[in-house]
Amino acid sequence: MTRSVLAVSMVLAGAALAQDTDFSKVEVKVVPVAGGVSMLVGQGGNIGVTTGKDGVFLIDDQFAPLLPKIRAAVKTLGEGPIRFVVNTHFHGDHTGSNALLGEAGTVILAQENVRKRLGVERINPRTKERTPPSPPAAWPLVTYADGVTLYLNGDELEVTHVARAHTDGDSLVRFRKANVVHMGDVFFNGSYPFIDVDSGGSIDGTIAAVEKVLPSIDAGTKLIPGHGPLGTRSDLQTYHEVLVSIRDRVKALIAQGKTLDQVIAAKPTAQWDATWGKGFLGPDVFVSFVYRSLTEAKSSGQK
Ligand SMILES: [Zn+2]
Repeated sequence: MTRSVLAVSMVLAGAALAQDTDFSKVEVKVVPVAGGVSMLVGQGGNIGVTTGKDGVFLIDDQFAPLLPKIRAAVKTLGEGPIRFVVNTHFHGDHTGSNALLGEAGTVILAQENVRKRLGVERINPRTKERTPPSPPAAWPLVTYADGVTLYLNGDELEVTHVARAHTDGDSLVRFRKANVVHMGDVFFNGSYPFIDVDSGGSIDGTIAAVEKVLPSIDAGTKLIPGHGPLGTRSDLQTYHEVLVSIRDRVKALIAQGKTLDQVIAAKPTAQWDATWGKGFLGPDVFVSFVYRSLTEAKSSGQK
């Protein structure tokens, strides 16, 4: 069982980088959100965008082969060069266009661990798969430890770091006036989330990040998830309930001395699998991340 979970994890890592995707077939669609903010859906992490007198601002940039389509979609919203990009974290399906944008003069901002991770060769500790460092043009020019605020296009954009959630370098971006929050991969809307335990992510940090957001939003807030459809507060509440229930069940099984295989066999996610397990991650792989996060959390990651 463990071997098959590892095999699926390897497939997942490949899927996350989408090396086999035929990008010529991918369409980049514009989903209007609120207050001049839109979401672009293509392949990989959902992109947030605003345009206006201060220029084009993006949150995440998917994959390099999609950049012409991303630019074309942005052009339907407003003119001007892409001035700033915030990366919600370092994964390739959120930073893949960084190098091309950086070369073209876009200022890339991210939490400091994103720059650290993009700048070095990454070796998967279990599969030994190697990912070379990204070229310097892809590295964020501006980094922050805890957050930064941008005053753009008549709105106030609060970028806030949440510790050890999906990775060790996650940021959330809140548009104060538009009442929109881009959640990055801290929020998978309607499916089990990938938690990158090997890059400092954890189930407890993911839950803590959601708990930080929930009291600060209202029924009118629109949430752009890293993956999945545009969401609302009630979607985030449901996500929170699912994550807390599964985390608590896995924790109880670990306390009984169960191994990973035994925890998976106990099917702690069973009641949600028909819906939540049909997305990005199957239940067994998700449970393995939760288990590893609760048993290895203190020894992994940079922080
Ligand atoms: Zn990710």
